Amino acid sequence: MRYLSTRGEAPALDFEGVLLAGLATDGGLYLPESWPEFDTASMPRLARLSYDALALEIVAPFVGDAIPQAALAAIIRDAYAGFDDPAVVPMRAIEPGLQVMELFHGPTLAFKDVALQLVGRLFDHVLAKRGRRIAIVAATSGDTGSAAIEACRGSKSIDIFVMHPKGRVSDVQRRQMTTVAAPNVHNIAIEGSFDDCQDLVKAMFNDRAFRAEMALSAVNSINWARIMAQIVYYAAGAVALSDGRWPVHFAVPTGNFGNVYAGYAAKRMGFPIGRLIVASNRNDILTRFFESGTMSSEPVVATQSPSMDIQVSSNFERLLFDLLDRDGRRVADAIASFRTSGRFAVSPAELARARETFDAFRLDDEGTTAEIARHHRSTGMPVDPHSAIGIAAARERRPWDGRPIVALATAHPAKFPDAVERATGVRPPMPKRLAALMQLPERCTTLPNELASVENHVRAHRSRGAAA
Ligand SMILES: *Cc1c(COP(=O)(O)O)cnc(C)c1O
Repeated sequence: MRYLSTRGEAPALDFEGVLLAGLATDGGLYLPESWPEFDTASMPRLARLSYDALALEIVAPFVGDAIPQAALAAIIRDAYAGFDDPAVVPMRAIEPGLQVMELFHGPTLAFKDVALQLVGRLFDHVLAKRGRRIAIVAATSGDTGSAAIEACRGSKSIDIFVMHPKGRVSDVQRRQMTTVAAPNVHNIAIEGSFDDCQDLVKAMFNDRAFRAEMALSAVNSINWARIMAQIVYYAAGAVALSDGRWPVHFAVPTGNFGNVYAGYAAKRMGFPIGRLIVASNRNDILTRFFESGTMSSEPVVATQSPSMDIQVSSNFERLLFDLLDRDGRRVADAIASFRTSGRFAVSPAELARARETFDAFRLDDEGTTAEIARHHRSTGMPVDPHSAIGIAAARERRPWDGRPIVALATAHPAKFPDAVERATGVRPPMPKRLAALMQLPERCTTLPNELASVENHVRAHRSRGAAA
């Protein structure tokens, strides 16, 4: 399998290349030159596979000969062995034709584990094969950091440095990161804001000498391998609810557009998927795009669903590439216009094409609280604010064509106990995994918001070994 950049200038790469590169050298995002195809006749057989076996069928054509089949199967098994539900992504019917798929059974109780547990192991395999080491640096406002740490703990080829703003993440979020006792995991509390942490990451990547010396890398949401891993649960939901003859719809709590783009990819690969409903909170840049054909950014506002507080959805560029007939020049122009003027537009015909698959929905905090309460009344179960927005989207925007719809639940309710308690009067019980963290010792270094201090710290703590 070869991968192209959405901006058309960077060289095509194979799987190992895109895994390690993340972003393309022309600033674009990689995607496969063509989609592996699964035909209708194979759907009943795929529906009988375990999650791991289905993942192997879907991932193998993307990985190509980078990893032998038996090794890939073992990596996948290992990635999902730590999930606390045998189905990995269990589905529950909450009303006729409406299922909730729980993507939060991984080690950090959020959907990013589904991709990162696999991607961390793929990195490790490829690096070990090459006899190389990398240092991953990341900034987090809470959840992504712990998912990345859990993905890399115990890796022999990766040192991971995660910066969080000191005193500005919740106790549980901090402990999910700082109680990991692996020697290759390095937590840094920065005396500053989340934006300061992000600026420090950018500055380290822009320091070319430092970047090369440390072999810096990222596991951010633009990495193709994360999308690839996410295609699997759309396929699993679709084949479970259809025998291939009728489409299954999905409603997706959306921030960076990575999750819902994986649904689009699954549809392109032949899985019986109908409409994809993009669910946003008040940061509704995508909803406005699907309504108007114009992408125009506005300031980010803080909401109860912080993982969706995003005004630039980087993975949207992958869909744009298809909407603009895979013309990298036009994608680059649109993105340049967005960077300088904060907007770009597609033609009415291009918008109509996008709307053949996508619909969009928004819900403010008040509506989210109401949905959490409604869900609790009707099912007796707590739901987190992100998942509630997806469920509300499924209820309000589902096509009334008698076909099933799946709302993706992206975080465990215990990760957002205040919002759940406010809406329902009941505090969700803390799962064992989280409760255990409260007893464990923490490891973390506090540093000033200063590039030189952080670089010195990374240099001093990165294990020795050849740069990738
Ligand atoms: C990251 C995240 C999202 C948004 O997913 P994208 O792939 O960025 O669209 C939604 N909900 C939760 C809980 C998340 O952690």
